[in-house]
Amino acid sequence: MNFTLSEEHIMIRNAAREFAKTELLPGVIERDNKQEFPEELVKKMANLGFMGIMVDPKYGGSGMDTISYVLIMEELSKIDASASVMVSVNNSLVCYGLEAYGTEEQKQKYLTKLASGQSIGAFCLSEPEAGSDATSQKTTAIDKGDHYLLNGTKNWITNGGRSDIYLVIAQTDKEKGHKGINAFIVEKGMEGFHIGPKEDKLGIRGSDTHTLQFNDVKVPKGNRIGEDGFGFKFAMKTLSGGRIGIAAQALGIASGAYELALKYSKERKAFGTEIANHQAIAFKLADMYTDIEASRMLVMKAAWDKDQGNNYDKSSAMAKLHASDTAMKHTVEAVQIHGGNGFVKEYHVERLMRDAKITQIYEGTSEIQKIVISRSVLRD
Ligand SMILES: Cc1cc2nc3c(=O)[nH]c(=O)nc-3n(C[C@H](O)[C@H](O)[C@H](O)COP(=O)(O)OP(=O)(O)OC[C@H]3O[C@@H](n4cnc5c(N)ncnc54)[C@H](O)[C@@H]3O)c2cc1C
Repeated sequence: MNFTLSEEHIMIRNAAREFAKTELLPGVIERDNKQEFPEELVKKMANLGFMGIMVDPKYGGSGMDTISYVLIMEELSKIDASASVMVSVNNSLVCYGLEAYGTEEQKQKYLTKLASGQSIGAFCLSEPEAGSDATSQKTTAIDKGDHYLLNGTKNWITNGGRSDIYLVIAQTDKEKGHKGINAFIVEKGMEGFHIGPKEDKLGIRGSDTHTLQFNDVKVPKGNRIGEDGFGFKFAMKTLSGGRIGIAAQALGIASGAYELALKYSKERKAFGTEIANHQAIAFKLADMYTDIEASRMLVMKAAWDKDQGNNYDKSSAMAKLHASDTAMKHTVEAVQIHGGNGFVKEYHVERLMRDAKITQIYEGTSEIQKIVISRSVLRD
């Protein structure tokens, strides 16, 4: 067992840390206020290889491992979880889904653009009546010979307005239940594809979340991913890796809040001494650090499992569950340590607290992670 990062991993982490401090930090409060998508920053992240971190260089990616991915995700998320969710969806849902399960033609046509950052991708599973229960897909794709006719609504889609390529899950044969679900590649601009208004959110306000409408959209047969009926398995497999990214995002939000709280507690004085010298505050810092380190171990283990080719369904669910609970609990504590200053925007911790909440909800709620974990431990 080796708990030491390689020199290369340290270099990657430092590059992401530097980028987050110099590029993401300056406008983060404004973007949050205005719900502004970090358009220019996406290009800069693409230049650093952050849009196709784990993709094979022959498809325009950076060819890094999952450990590198989580290190980058943690550093970006310490500062700007809106930017990091965009990176996470593009990398672990869209690029991974295409690289692992797409045809060579699909990879050449779509993955190369996504991995190099020329295009942005979205992953469209959730619907107004199908969230946790993803088998209840109401979106249909009817086989019309050389194409499928796609109809339905997807909601809460991250990168929804700014994407070029959408992976859309739909029911092709209701009789077959979840075995009658398929995944399709849909391009922006296809006739009948409409993008609804942007959601006004509690947190990750800079990220771009939309409802999408499909009215008789003709999707070529060649845009189906995998064998007929593979769509549900595709979604579950892809989300399992996505959870490693969201776990790393939660870890970053928690550690970002911790770093701010630690610094503040050494500067702010009350009753004649720095507040860190009051045991009530010192113990909060101890609890934060311990929970964050435990989350980091779980996140790294899940990433390592994926890199080793091990099954990572349980480890990614545990990482997401623990890291997201840690992020929620300790961003609240970071606000508390900041006192009144914690309640205003310029100190950053209130945004981290708002951003933390989503990590317990998307890519499977905490309750759903417990279902995944309990099924696994009961089976083992
Ligand atoms: C900002 C944001 C971005 C998102 N991005 C995307 C995206 O890019 N693509 C995408 O497809 N989706 C996306 N989602 C959707 C997200 O994944 C869903 O909101 C989430 O899966 C929960 O589904 P739901 O909202 O329908 O809640 P529901 O499924 O209705 O759940 C409501 C509550 O019931 C609980 N619950 C449900 N079933 C059970 C059960 N069996 N046992 C115990 N408790 C249960 C849930 O845990 C939750 O607490 C996003 C959501 C948000 C808010």
